[in-house]
Amino acid sequence: MSTDWARGAERFKPEDDCPLFSERLEEHIVGITRGELPNRGRFCGNCYTPMSIETVRCAHCQTSVQDRTPVGAIPDAVVDMLRRQRKTESNWVNGFAYLGLVLAAVFGLGVVLGVPYLRANLLPATIVYGLLLVVGSRMLAGLLGGYWGDRLGYERARRALRESWAELVEARDGGTGARR
Ligand SMILES: [Zn+2]
Repeated sequence: MSTDWARGAERFKPEDDCPLFSERLEEHIVGITRGELPNRGRFCGNCYTPMSIETVRCAHCQTSVQDRTPVGAIPDAVVDMLRRQRKTESNWVNGFAYLGLVLAAVFGLGVVLGVPYLRANLLPATIVYGLLLVVGSRMLAGLLGGYWGDRLGYERARRALRESWAELVEARDGGTGARR
């Protein structure tokens, strides 16, 4: 279901010169790390997007097979880059969600201690605090994690990815200029 939605929606394309990750490459790497797909096949020699045997030009980065011979496997470094990207993103989302939880707890405490009736009556205070905690933490965790955590995490992860990609390209194409 979600893949139909993802296909219909416009995918966010970052404005930089790093061609990682095409949707197909990302899907393939996820398949590899789950053990559902082998790291074998035909991949673009530039951006490692999976290519069928007849394809002469990468659909993602437009590199032709004459310019850069397709490779038979995705380099471990590239698989690792996706793993690191996702880890950075989830750390930021989880971190901000946790912050939302803490804020809800502090806010709930403030309400219970700030209202004299609640301060004097343990049972109603506990009920109010419980409700504020459940509703507030859910809202704040979703808002902070799902919005700020997601955005900041993506930016951080993308920056690190661009650096890793530049290093990989330098190691791959720099120096002798030999094609692999
Ligand atoms: Zn490509």
